[in-house]
Amino acid sequence: MHERYSYLCLYPFLPAASEYVKESGLTIDHMISSASARIRAKERVIEAIRTGCVQRPFIADDMQAQMELLSYPFARILVSCINDPYLVRRYALAEAKGAYRRIIEDLNTGTGMDTIHKLAGDLGIHADISTDHVLVPFTDYLQLAVNLRDKRWKLVNRSLVRGKVKLNVNEFVRLLQEAIYGRVIKGLPLDVPEEICNSLRAHIEQIKEELARGRPKRDEFRAHSGADPDSFPPCIRNILRNLNEGVNIPHSARFAVTAFLLNAGLSVEEVIELYRNSPDFNETMTRYQVEHIAGVRSGTRYTAPSCATMRTYGNCVGKDELCDRIAHPLSYYRLKLKRRAKKPDS
Ligand code: SF4
Repeated sequence: MHERYSYLCLYPFLPAASEYVKESGLTIDHMISSASARIRAKERVIEAIRTGCVQRPFIADDMQAQMELLSYPFARILVSCINDPYLVRRYALAEAKGAYRRIIEDLNTGTGMDTIHKLAGDLGIHADISTDHVLVPFTDYLQLAVNLRDKRWKLVNRSLVRGKVKLNVNEFVRLLQEAIYGRVIKGLPLDVPEEICNSLRAHIEQIKEELARGRPKRDEFRAHSGADPDSFPPCIRNILRNLNEGVNIPHSARFAVTAFLLNAGLSVEEVIELYRNSPDFNETMTRYQVEHIAGVRSGTRYTAPSCATMRTYGNCVGKDELCDRIAHPLSYYRLKLKRRAKKPDS
């Protein structure tokens, strides 16, 4: 199989991959008439919903490589026909995570440096790459690391060499994941003609069913924890909505929602589950932080921040009339529970 072709079908979101598809004369009609590309496209989206990661495909020959290449734009069409913000983010993240894993696997087998060089060039990142470290221009770094919340990504915690930010190779691959996420999500949802969406109805229905199963369910949430999400204050509902849609949220919001939910009766395990869609989800780290706030490690259980603190950090979002009567999100919750006990529809 041609080397460039096998590389592009593993990284089909690259500009070079769409040029390749155009040059080959492949059109949207080819995609729609290719049953195997349709099935693989549906699999890409279903894998994204189920596991949050599009796995490395098995490619034996040029035919399979072409099908794999076509399945990517087709998956974008399927996601666009469904037009659900949660699915758009989850799909883009799953493609980016899949690419990250493929690069790390290649690094472990000794072929990854070549891939990193090619990907950086194809994604327009001007980095000096060696096997020891990578130097990234300051401005590129700021753009790529903007959504990474961990302290180690803050510029004050990085070394600068001749105006460039120094990273180890694995950290640079993590930045490539960010660049890939940006590339995949760009333009989504596409403006797909209705007749095309109609012709794909069977696939779309299957994806929607999977989506309904995969999306965190409010009723289960209520049944397990006894908490009533409909009575949560607007600020907490907003943070939960962002978590659910895979938006990377700041530390202050993570602390606020975690402390609030633990005090509202959720268990440590239930709170950890809510973080699973986060772009940077790391179970060990999340468990450590949630257990710390719950007092499992320190013996001190933290309470949620007051409304004044929420305002200071920009986390007071969507105030309503009940907010004028309270000074703490947990007071809002208790008051709303009382009201709803008297009048269930309030
Ligand atoms: S006023 Fe308090 S409870 Fe209401 S949205 Fe703001 S922080 Fe949340």
